[in-house]
Parts: sequence; C-alpha cells; structure tokens
Amino acid sequence: MNITEQMMRQKKIEDLYDVAVVGGGLAGVMTAVSAAREGKRVILLEKYGCLGGMATAGLVYPFMRHSEKPSGKPANKGLYFRLLKEVYEIGGSDGEQSRHYKEEFMKVVLDRMVTEAGVKVLFHAKLCEVECEKKTVTSVTVATVSGKIKIRARVFADTTGNADLCAFAGLPFEKGREEDGLCQPMTLNFRLGNVDWSRFNLKMATALYNELQAKGEIKNPRENILVFRSPVDNIMHMNTTRAVGYDPTDVESVTAAEMLLREQMIEMYWFMKNNIPGMENCELLSSSVEAGIRESRRIVGLYRITAEDLLSARKFEDSIARGTYEIDIHNPSGTGTVLRHIPPNDFYTIPYRALVPRDADNLIVAGRSVSSTHEALAAIRIMPITTCMGEAAGIAAALAIDGNCPLADINVAELQKRITSYGGLI
Ligand SMILES: Cc1cc2nc3c(=O)[nH]c(=O)nc-3n(C[C@H](O)[C@H](O)[C@H](O)COP(=O)(O)OP(=O)(O)OC[C@H]3O[C@@H](n4cnc5c(N)ncnc54)[C@H](O)[C@@H]3O)c2cc1C
Repeated sequence: MNITEQMMRQKKIEDLYDVAVVGGGLAGVMTAVSAAREGKRVILLEKYGCLGGMATAGLVYPFMRHSEKPSGKPANKGLYFRLLKEVYEIGGSDGEQSRHYKEEFMKVVLDRMVTEAGVKVLFHAKLCEVECEKKTVTSVTVATVSGKIKIRARVFADTTGNADLCAFAGLPFEKGREEDGLCQPMTLNFRLGNVDWSRFNLKMATALYNELQAKGEIKNPRENILVFRSPVDNIMHMNTTRAVGYDPTDVESVTAAEMLLREQMIEMYWFMKNNIPGMENCELLSSSVEAGIRESRRIVGLYRITAEDLLSARKFEDSIARGTYEIDIHNPSGTGTVLRHIPPNDFYTIPYRALVPRDADNLIVAGRSVSSTHEALAAIRIMPITTCMGEAAGIAAALAIDGNCPLADINVAELQKRITSYGGLI
C-alpha cells in the first residue's frame, strides 16, 4: 500500500455518491444544494478553503443586474433570492434583495446552505484526474492535503468555470473568439481603503489616467477606471486591471498574467494616491486570490447560445433560467469594451440543452462554461444567472438518477415544474 492509499484509508471518506459536484462557486453550491434538496447524496469538491468562487475569494462585486430594465421586475429568483436574503439577515448587505454584499458574510451563508442541505464538502480538493468508460464518467480524483482521493458518483457536475472536468474527460470544447481563440482579458480585482468619497471625482480621475496612459506613464491597457462603492464605509472596489492576450487555461500564461496584474494594481494605487483628490490617504487592502477569468473553455453542448438569442430576448421551450444583462465584451486583443443591449422590459432565457455536454451521458455543466458563443457568454456569465443555472443543474442531476437515463433524456417539463415550484423563474 502506498502512502496515498494509507492516507485515504485513514480518512475513511465515503467514495460513492449520487452526485459529485466539482467547483464550489455559486453555480456549484447551488447545484449541490439543489440536488440534495431532491434527496440525493451529494459531495462538493472545491480547490479553495471557502465557497463562492469569484463572488468571495475572487473579490468580484457586486451582483450585476437581476431584473428587467427599466421596470425592475425580477428575472432571477429561487435559491439566488434565498442567498441574498440570508446574506442580509446576518448583516452582509443593506437589503433583502441588495446586489451589494460583503463577501465574508456570503462565505458563511454558503457554508450554512450546504451544511443544512446535508452536502458533504471537501475544501482544498483540486480536480486532477477523471476516469471515463465510453460516454460515462466513472470517477474523479482530487488532490488534497490528505493525498489523492477518488470519488465515484452516478452523475457528475462540472462547475469549475473553466470546464476542467469536461476537458480532463477529453470532451470537446471551444475557447475565446471564433476568429482567433482569444478570450476576454483577465482582471485582478482589489480594494482600497481610507477613501474620501466626498472629494473623489471619477471623471477627473479618468481624464488624468488617460492623459498619463497616452504619455506611456500608465501601462494598464484598460480604457477607463472602473470603481464600485463598497457597502463598507470608505472602501473602493477596483475592477480596472487587464491582462490582454493571455490564455486562462495555460498554466504558464496564467502565472505571467497574475504577476502583470499585480504590477498594474500597484501602478493604479500610486496613481490614485499621488494624483487624485480624496485618495491621498488611501491604503491597498487586498486583492483577489487569483486572476479573475471572464472567459475560458465553453463546452460543446446540445445547444449553443448565441448573441442573437439574447438580443432578440428569445424564449426557449426548454428554458431553465432567465437573464437580462447585456452583452459586455472586454476587448480580448486591445483596449475598449463593447456593450450590446437587450430589449427594454424583457428577458432572454437559458435553454437546458446548453448545460448538457454533447458527448457525455452522466455529466452536467453549470456556470461560466456552458455551451455558448464568445459573444453570448459575455452576458450570461454574470453571477445571478450562473447561480440560477446551478439550481437547475442540481434538479436535472436528480431527475437523471431517478429516471435512470442520460442527462440529455430527462423530462424537461418536470425540471421546469420543479424549478418554478421552488420560486425560480424560467
Ligand atoms: C474580473 C471579473 C469581474 C466580474 N464582475 C462581475 C460583476 O460585477 N457582477 C457579476 O455578477 N459578475 C461578474 N463577473 C462574472 C462572474 O464573477 C463569473 O462569471 C461567475 O462568478 C462565474 O461563476 P461560476 O460559479 O461559474 O464560477 P466561479 O465563481 O469561478 O467558481 C468556480 C469554482 O470552481 C473552483 N474550481 C475551479 N477549478 C477547480 C478544480 N480543478 N478543482 C476544484 N475546484 C475548482 C474554483 O475555486 C471556484 O470556487 C466578473 C468576472 C470577473 C472575472
């Protein structure tokens, strides 16, 4: 017996589940909680030491729009609304449906949600191997502090954002723009403290930033400064760095991007501190644990969501979630951001088929890596939508188990009935 086997035996971790969810971002947590709510034995495997992914460890903030514009009619509810409410109830936001949250509170709410649902969670568990027999995934192996652990399940969910599970299983995927494969730039979000908002003028700051950029004194390629006001007094959330032309699925490229992004963070800090009224006393507080990835692998699913589907507010027969956020493409090869709007007081839908990989029977995907074009992903990747996708994926996993059928063959009408019975919108 080698050392890894010895450690696994000592750990006595159950290795057979109904559903194994890999990736504990919002999509993964909701997949796990939702499958457990259907009575399934679920394990959730997460590489960080907390749940929430980009929403917590990734310092992404706030939730982008979850309602129709301008009416304000909600488009995303279900477990997403429960999450907002519970974050509010423990002091993590200023309202039951507030999109502005404090991530430390959200981490606790997510812990409680999985615990209450009876989901087995392993932190610091990074997917490293996938075994398949024909179109069936038979096991995943995660590297942990206790050694490698192999988990078997009847259905697997890939909620890694990067479609790691699908890629390691050898399934086909797309990446980046159709013409050159380039992805939207990565960004390291960070926070500045001691900000005097009463004297801060974004327009003035951006004008000076652009002037120094033109002189070559600022290297950051982003065309403007993007800041958000934190719910905590005097804290500025900055979403302004940009690593353009890097590949989020190439380990060397990601490493180089992260070092570059930290340089941009320091550049921005000193630019603000030395030049901008209200920022003289600012302090650099924290940055995301890793570069934020807007786009990487997208699975080849049973349906590929297109920009046209979103811009025409298409209502799919197999809709499992809604969205209202616009197509928001940060230029993959230079500077600039393109925005394309959807019709007012309307919403588009996410078809179930976009969550189902074409070439696998017992695998479902939720979150950033569902089947879509580069343009469509630029809208549907936002957190209210990925959260709702996760809720649908968990129910779908349960239906596949109960029906003893591939994910592609589940009863979609029943899936939709259950989503709406829990308060979700389709
Ligand atoms: C810079 C930036 C700014 C953004 N701004 C906004 C915004 O303002 N509002 C908004 O709503 N959305 C925003 N988004 C989009 C949004 O944050 C993401 O698209 C969304 O969070 C994706 O959710 P997810 O659950 O699919 O993936 P993630 O949140 O990325 O979760 C994936 C999880 O899987 C885990 N994981 C990954 N690989 C493995 C592995 N191999 N083994 C085990 N675990 C693994 C990760 O640790 C993570 O916890 C932004 C994104 C970025 C990058």
